[in-house]
Amino acid sequence: MPKPANPTPDFFGFADLLDDGERAELAAMRDCLEAEIKPLANDAWDRAEFPFEAIEKIAKLGLAGYHYPEYGDGRPRSELFSGFLNLELNRVDPSLAVFAGVHNGLAMGSIHGGGDQEQRDRWLPDMAAMRTIGAFALTEPEGGSDVAGGMRTTARRDGDTWVLNGAKRWIGNGTFADVVVVWARDTADGNVKGFVVHQGTPGFTATKIEGKIALRTVQNADITLDEVRVPEADRLQRINSFRDTAAVLARTRGGVAWQALGVAVRAYELAREYAVERVQFGKPIGAFQMIQDLLVKILGNVTAMFGMVVRLNQLTAAGRAGAEQAALAKAFTTTRMRECVAWARELFGGNGIVLDYEIAKFFADAEAVYSFEGSREMNTLIVGKSITGHSAFA
Ligand SMILES: Cc1cc2nc3c(=O)[nH]c(=O)nc-3n(C[C@H](O)[C@H](O)[C@H](O)COP(=O)(O)OP(=O)(O)OC[C@H]3O[C@@H](n4cnc5c(N)ncnc54)[C@H](O)[C@@H]3O)c2cc1C
Repeated sequence: MPKPANPTPDFFGFADLLDDGERAELAAMRDCLEAEIKPLANDAWDRAEFPFEAIEKIAKLGLAGYHYPEYGDGRPRSELFSGFLNLELNRVDPSLAVFAGVHNGLAMGSIHGGGDQEQRDRWLPDMAAMRTIGAFALTEPEGGSDVAGGMRTTARRDGDTWVLNGAKRWIGNGTFADVVVVWARDTADGNVKGFVVHQGTPGFTATKIEGKIALRTVQNADITLDEVRVPEADRLQRINSFRDTAAVLARTRGGVAWQALGVAVRAYELAREYAVERVQFGKPIGAFQMIQDLLVKILGNVTAMFGMVVRLNQLTAAGRAGAEQAALAKAFTTTRMRECVAWARELFGGNGIVLDYEIAKFFADAEAVYSFEGSREMNTLIVGKSITGHSAFA
């Protein structure tokens, strides 16, 4: 009897590093995501509309509170568990994973890292329960990769309030988020500061970016700020310069590396399943050497990505991961992810470009994951500076 096929994308058993309780919790979470979120995902992606019913379902899973146990269910989770959870969410739908990541990583992370205790206590309980949804507005129409140096949005102090002026681009959840963390340069001292702006504040306008070919469910917005007044109490009190903004990004960048792994894992699963089912020339295509070559190349990439992100989270847990490690993980995994989705799509032939077979969505979504949170070039330059001592940004 031939040995049965081994379908696991975790070929080296990285999940064995979790404890039994974590593995059980993850399996339950996966079942819920498959049952509750997956059925909404493709239709929402096709229509490029956000499925608002997903918020309650994601909230019920407690996903937003995991990183901040004092505001969630009170039970701290390991770094490794958070990584695997991120993987699972992306395996089901990268767009909804980005919705959640912007909310709990970028927006809640900015308030948790940059707010004082009163501000944390004011916003985070409702955000952890997803009664309040967050967005993070850093990128500008003229300032993407060079947003630190090129930030044009200004904040002018006027007594107990600040007056914001400028424009932001690509802001995930921006059309409907209740609170948007807006980054702006103080006209007095030239430093970047963070402000929590409520949707509906006079002068704040968010317009959906139409016509995206990737992460279509994510509602990205162009935002204009025209004399938007924000009380001093809503300025993040522990943000003093762009260095503090970069600290939030260094943490979420590691999350994007896990996201890339989730996309690649799903591409592998879909490709392997298709290869053993699709028959040509009287045999499953998975029996052909060149198809096995595609599958094994994807699995090799997935396994290398696992090794890097698992170790990254172990280093994070030990307080030993720096921005350079997160940057290398983001650049490496997103590049490997892009190869994986292309090989997987190729394996599907014509069916690889139809949404019904799912791989087309992952193929397209990978493009956005490759470019955001620092493009491959930007993350390469961060690592390049670290290993040579020379900055090559400009
Ligand atoms: C789907 C999606 C969601 C996003 N969500 C958010 C969000 O929620 N909040 C937010 O603030 N931003 C968000 N972004 C913005 C994202 O972070 C930026 O798109 C990204 O930082 C790149 O900036 P840019 O698009 O302006 O490209 P540019 O900076 O114009 O870069 C264009 C190209 O030039 C390259 N390049 C630039 N400078 C150099 C250099 N010195 N050397 C070599 N190559 C260089 C880049 O790598 C890239 O390939 C999102 C973007 C997307 C696509």
